[in-house]
Amino acid sequence: MDCHVTVLPPLPFGKGYTYCVPSNLRLVVGDFVTIPLGAQEVLGVVWNTKPDKVQPEKLRYIKTKFDVSPLPEVSRRFIEWVSNYNMVPKGAVLKMVISVPAALMPPKPLTVYSISKKLPVFRITSPRERVLGILEDDAPRTLKNIMREAGVGHSVIRGLLKAGVLVKLEHTPPPAFKNPDWRAKGPVLSEEQATIASELCDQVERATFAATVLEGVPGSGKTEVYLESICRALKYGKQALVLLPEIALSAQWLQRFEDRFGCAPALWHSDLTVVQRSTAWRAIASGEAKVIVGARSALFLPFTNLGVIIIDEEHDSSFKQEEGVIYNARDMAVVRANIGKIPIVLVSATPSLESIFNVRRGQYNHFKLTHRHAGALMPKVSVIDMRNEEVKSGNWLSPPLLDSLRQTFELEEQAMLYLNRRGYAPLTLCRTCGFRLQCSHCSTWLVEHRLLGRLQCHHCGYSARIPRECPECGSEDSLTACGPGVERIAEEVAGIFPDVSSRVITSDTVNGPTQAANLVCQMEAREIDLLIGTQMISKGYHFPYLTLVGVVDADLGLAGGDLRASERTYQLLYQVSGRAGRAARPGRVIIQTYMPDHPVIQAIGIGDREQFLSAEAFDREAGGMPPFGQLVGIIVSSKDEEAVERAVRSLNRFAPRDDNIKILGPAEAPLKLLRGRHRRRFLLKSGKNQNLQRKIRYWLSVAQVPRNVRVNVDIDPYSFL
Ligand code: ADP
Ligand code: ZN
Ligand code: ZN
Repeated sequence: MDCHVTVLPPLPFGKGYTYCVPSNLRLVVGDFVTIPLGAQEVLGVVWNTKPDKVQPEKLRYIKTKFDVSPLPEVSRRFIEWVSNYNMVPKGAVLKMVISVPAALMPPKPLTVYSISKKLPVFRITSPRERVLGILEDDAPRTLKNIMREAGVGHSVIRGLLKAGVLVKLEHTPPPAFKNPDWRAKGPVLSEEQATIASELCDQVERATFAATVLEGVPGSGKTEVYLESICRALKYGKQALVLLPEIALSAQWLQRFEDRFGCAPALWHSDLTVVQRSTAWRAIASGEAKVIVGARSALFLPFTNLGVIIIDEEHDSSFKQEEGVIYNARDMAVVRANIGKIPIVLVSATPSLESIFNVRRGQYNHFKLTHRHAGALMPKVSVIDMRNEEVKSGNWLSPPLLDSLRQTFELEEQAMLYLNRRGYAPLTLCRTCGFRLQCSHCSTWLVEHRLLGRLQCHHCGYSARIPRECPECGSEDSLTACGPGVERIAEEVAGIFPDVSSRVITSDTVNGPTQAANLVCQMEAREIDLLIGTQMISKGYHFPYLTLVGVVDADLGLAGGDLRASERTYQLLYQVSGRAGRAARPGRVIIQTYMPDHPVIQAIGIGDREQFLSAEAFDREAGGMPPFGQLVGIIVSSKDEEAVERAVRSLNRFAPRDDNIKILGPAEAPLKLLRGRHRRRFLLKSGKNQNLQRKIRYWLSVAQVPRNVRVNVDIDPYSFL
């Protein structure tokens, strides 16, 4: 009898399909294979070698098996878990694991040339002599390298090859990643740092699951401490994974790693080419790449021997993926560590309430670094009550902030202005008729980007030239920009300090590792006096001469009023403040606000995080909100508005009736139109451990949802738009 297996393709299917195994193939669970599926041939992973129900007459045969190690059991269990918890098909999660199918093919051998062992008689010329000269050391070289080193053209080498003087060889390419040197010494740690580092190293050695929150003010040496635990993993030949929120911008972090360990880590982020990704994927699967630094998707790489996971800036909301498979990489990383029986360290100056709650429940360990390294002080924070300041219309910087900027520039120090708004102005309206320029695919205003001369939608990417006439009433030159974006602040500064060299830092102006590295160089060389940027500048940069941070509008993040608005604003303001005065020079922070009495502003102003946290926790607990309760968002969307209505009516009719679950909605989503899709939301709220997923699964299976309507489930939502 034929042998059968279940194969899961990386497609949005909830389960695998049964196939026959040809007699010449030996397969184990986890093997990568190709299978016929409909009229196509697709990739898949052997999920189960003992399928229960088999209808032999229908079965088709597996085509081929890839010559790579099988997907490890930990990865498979992780896929199952992520799929179950986030309510996405297993195959969709598998697709994140096999994000570069090209990696399954053997790497292209390298064609190199060397001098033949049996030299024929041949005519010698001076270019030929140069080629033989450089190959005399017996090290074969690629065509490109010979051409470059010997300064000859292609034809010279072709001639030598034809004459039988050179021979062609196929080499396996050299390893792409060097081994970081765990013996290299890091800095001498302070007593406080050393105690924590040694605990983290012990965890790595014990090789059991442990989750630890590593808290400490910016500059207290959190990075130095967790590098020690990476070092310990390396000592035992294990891999380490570090997730950073903005990996493409982490030039300083990478430099530090290289300085310490003698080589660069393997990188994983969306700016890599397919070849780079394939190389990294293979090296991670084979265990050759030891330290992997990446964006959230790196969590799904097929590590063979992972020894520790570090989540830097664990509170950062960019760990939540909002598109496609919706998941929280920080939370899933804890699960990955648990399944793999390894420690995980959640690092932050402002740990999330979720993590703090887990510490209080005794689920996570908690270590705290209390001093900034070398006695640097946290900056002094002043809150400016904008209600009492005179600022010309169309200007946004108050006299005290301008004074501080002036002093900073006079001392030849650097400053940073923070405003979490890209572009020139968030809204453009017509002075004649009041019409506001809106995206035609989304319910959002178009944002003016004056540098590009365009209006942009920040949600769908729609972009258009700025019209001269109002599209509504036709008045000419009547459109005006309302409110500030970073470009407008740059304009204001340029008008007041014409000699100051400033840079606007947003995802529009810095969008790759090279640009980020350039920026760091220019800041370090003090070619830039002032950075004006969005939350991108709040990330872990360390500039010794940066002594002033100005927050242009501290109230911005509090406006939407979602669940985490206060917490997030606190974290951002704290993080931005932490950029000032990280070395010998003391720093200061100036916060402009119209709400000086708001608890967040108060807490930042007097530096009382504990008080803020308890108040915030109290409110959340009283409302049964996370981390004390659980939320699930259900987003129903379609291009066909009427179909959405029908789906919502049916969903409403079959909604779970359960005393433990509170259902809010259906309501129009705040973004009721997004990329041309009409959207409605439900929000489910329950206590912890209610297994909401099971109830939702049942609900969605009985409700009638038209085919052209999409229902997205967002477990533990961060966005309520
Ligand atoms: P954090 O991650 O908490 O912001 P870092 O680890 O980046 O802090 O440390 C801030 C700066 O202080 C870095 O330049 C780091 O190299 C330096 N530093 C921290 N601890 C030490 C130490 N024990 N000896 C020497 N330099 C240190
Ligand atoms: Zn008009
Ligand atoms: Zn849009």
